Amino acid sequence: MKVEEILAKLVSFPILGGQSNVSILNWIKEYIESFGIQVHLVPNKEKNKASLHCRIGPAVDGGVILSGHMDVVPVEGQKWTTDPFILTDLGDGKLYGRGSSDMKGFLACCLTALPEMVKATLKKPIYFAFTYDEEIGCLAAPELANTIRNHYDETPKYAIIGEPSMMEPIIGQKAIYIMETYVNGSAGHSSRIKQEVSAIHEAMRLILWLEKKMDTLIEEGRRDDRFHPPHSTIHIGQVQGGIAPNVIADKAHFFWDLRTIPMDSISLILSEFEAYCRKRESELQNIYPDFKIENIENHPPVPHLDTKANDDIVDLIKKISGNSNWDTVSYASEAGQYANEGFQSAICGPGNIAQAHRADEFIAKEQLHKGVIMLHKLVEELSNEQFS
Ligand SMILES: [Zn+2]
Repeated sequence: MKVEEILAKLVSFPILGGQSNVSILNWIKEYIESFGIQVHLVPNKEKNKASLHCRIGPAVDGGVILSGHMDVVPVEGQKWTTDPFILTDLGDGKLYGRGSSDMKGFLACCLTALPEMVKATLKKPIYFAFTYDEEIGCLAAPELANTIRNHYDETPKYAIIGEPSMMEPIIGQKAIYIMETYVNGSAGHSSRIKQEVSAIHEAMRLILWLEKKMDTLIEEGRRDDRFHPPHSTIHIGQVQGGIAPNVIADKAHFFWDLRTIPMDSISLILSEFEAYCRKRESELQNIYPDFKIENIENHPPVPHLDTKANDDIVDLIKKISGNSNWDTVSYASEAGQYANEGFQSAICGPGNIAQAHRADEFIAKEQLHKGVIMLHKLVEELSNEQFS
């Protein structure tokens, strides 16, 4: 099958993050197995989703993992001019469809290159590692990366995460954490604001504390110029609370995210914030004994990626992608999770992240073909006796 045909097939499965991925999983599994490659599944507890992994080539150390996710983000509320789940060629050099860039394009490249990988005399193996639920917090990759490390007798050395990067090597990524903070105050007539505890007023105080924390980190000179912006960010994106101007709000909550550069620690920032919350609680419980602040993690932290510009993986990707630059990103990906398992990791894949998650997502055909060429070059590299 041609890369466009495979991509069209993958796009036709409307599997969102959080949903059962059995249909797309089975299609990919059968496709891979039709080339005589054994596929292994790593299911979730409910057994309605699974990641897959397989090895092509010899069982020797030093291979390359190709990582991607099978799920996509929703299309609800977006104004699409084409059917998002039918890959559409409008004759402008682009293929439109949900997931065309993020990141079924890369999966299609992997599957297109598979017959060539199977035929080649690989000296080092290639692994496919495809996950579910990436789009709701990179939930499946830690287990898959760990399984790959333990399942095979040999140990892969590298992981290439094929997120859309316009085929440029991405070697750094901020850690990302999403929190929900719930404030429980006491309701009452607004004239009694000094006798009650407004959940809104307290929520605002907590928000200002978080903003101040970010500013303090910046003032302390904690910066890493590889990133844009070069400092950690704390951002509150959603606030809710209250019913009327003259009623003291007994409930308020806000959702926020924390994106840290490698030198900053999410857990340290969180423990300081927790300490401040506990302090406010004990102070305000004098006025209202049931006053409470609860912090709930929206999903586990996605770790940062801190690959060095002179690591071997960067040389490898530069060689096969034809791109001599490198860059960093501030969005979540599975790269840091593979790095945590000890694999040298970097992001590189076809398509542009600017097209991801929006209406009329597309991938330029040229990008898709560059992705296939990169994998051809990878096969060449790994067929070389000298590869290390
Ligand atoms: Zn993605």
